[in-house]
Amino acid sequence: MMFQAMDKTYQVVIIGGGPAGLTAGLYCARSRLNTLLIEKGIMGGQITNAERVENYPGFPKGISGIELGQLIHEQATSYGLETLLTEVAKVVPNQKHNLVSTSEGDFVTESIIIASGSQFRKLGVPGEDRFVGRGVSYCATCDAPLFKARTVAVIGGGDSAVTEALYLSKFASSVKVIHRRSQLRADKILQEKAMAEPKIEFIWDTVVTQIEGDGLVMQLMLKNAKNAKLSTLQLAGVFVAIGAQPNSAQWRGLLPLDEEGYIITNELMETKIPGIFAVGDVRHKSARQAITAAGDGATAAISAERFLSL
Ligand code: NAP
Repeated sequence: MMFQAMDKTYQVVIIGGGPAGLTAGLYCARSRLNTLLIEKGIMGGQITNAERVENYPGFPKGISGIELGQLIHEQATSYGLETLLTEVAKVVPNQKHNLVSTSEGDFVTESIIIASGSQFRKLGVPGEDRFVGRGVSYCATCDAPLFKARTVAVIGGGDSAVTEALYLSKFASSVKVIHRRSQLRADKILQEKAMAEPKIEFIWDTVVTQIEGDGLVMQLMLKNAKNAKLSTLQLAGVFVAIGAQPNSAQWRGLLPLDEEGYIITNELMETKIPGIFAVGDVRHKSARQAITAAGDGATAAISAERFLSL
């Protein structure tokens, strides 16, 4: 059910509609808590960028990220979760009368579950901003078909970089994975797949110092991190996959964050403020997977129910 009326009171407002927020919504709705989930982009969040999710239990053949998001949304709303597509402008914590402001109205809520996720980290080199949409991308699933039979590079050595490289290899003629060290941190299964893909080549111990072109990306300036040797690489596309930054700016000064800006909680997903919980990729934790995000969401909903019954 999509939200209609404005300026309502809720027991729980969930900020963010990725696997963490949607699962929190599912559990809250099944506990008959009057709950609103607010998402600023697309239901499913960042998982919708995944062409195939192969490690979410229950889908032995894998499932597209978009479909996974849609299914959790459908499941949660079938139990009465209300959802609203808009951005949260401001939150004012005030015990059981917290205010959540959006352009669609202000909501008073007894508790809040922060599930605002993270956004792509930028390389921060000259040319990156200038060539966004002109050869620089942060999403292979979105842009890979534009690079059919061309050479592209993926920057990074984690799960995202290797997943992006594997997807790009279906389109591009050559995929260079440029990593600042000589060892990947990606999942071993992904590494094995990438090493076995003839179109993928690894360029180790190397950093990008500049992205150059003339209207469109044409080449990368590279520097070997061990011997400082400089080189260039001619290509058409650069996919930056070097991790994420938490969407936690509006909580700075209100809640304790770690040095990278992730919100600190205990194992019950409780933040320092009673009744305010944080889950998924915005939370300081060790594993950032759809399934661990979903687990956080379930835990927070159970904690919220206990808090509301006090
Ligand atoms: P990540 O695991 O943090 O890896 C980031 C990679 O980028 C690292 O290899 C890092 O190098 C490199 N890097 C960071 N800053 C850099 C910079 N300024 N210049 C050059 N390289 C830089 O990030 P991720 O791969 O986006 O994954 C994020 C989280 O989502 C992880 O927990 C991951 O497991 C999860 N994820 C899971 C899947 C899946 O299960 N299929 C898919 C995508 C993401 P170092 O190795 O030297 O630090």
